[in-house]
Amino acid sequence: MLKHKFNNLFGLPELEFTKESSQHKNTLRLHCRKTSKAEVCPKCTTLSKVCYDKRTISVQDTPIRNRTVYLKITKRRFFCKACKKPFTEPIQGIIKGYRTTQRFRKHILWFATHFSDLKKVQEKCRCSSWLVHKAYYEQAELEVRKLQNPWGKTVGIDEHSFVRNTKFGYR
Ligand SMILES: [Zn+2]
Repeated sequence: MLKHKFNNLFGLPELEFTKESSQHKNTLRLHCRKTSKAEVCPKCTTLSKVCYDKRTISVQDTPIRNRTVYLKITKRRFFCKACKKPFTEPIQGIIKGYRTTQRFRKHILWFATHFSDLKKVQEKCRCSSWLVHKAYYEQAELEVRKLQNPWGKTVGIDEHSFVRNTKFGYR
């Protein structure tokens, strides 16, 4: 089925493909959403089933057959009874606040390591030179960390601390 095909392409296991709404032949706009019954509050880890709002975010993903791919993800807002505060559900494979998927950033790193011509990388990845630089250094650092810490099972936590570091200008 088409659904399964798309989900495999994403490599984003939590997301379910709903529909396509591409308006341009060079661009693929794929709509998806998370189907979990409940979400865990990121602050206190209380399970919450009360979804009260939704919003759609646009995230760039790895190009498919030279077409720029945008994932239109409907993210749900939950209300945590313990904190008495709302939170937006996280999506595995997309760092909070990022406009690109982790697999796309890895894809950029691969191109940036195999092609010396920046223009070529931009063309292949269909993104800005800014993103190529950013993804390159960030993903390269993650790779180095993995090598330095062979016991680390918690790449997810590393990624989060990395995000915090970039905010304070540390690389
Ligand atoms: Zn909470």
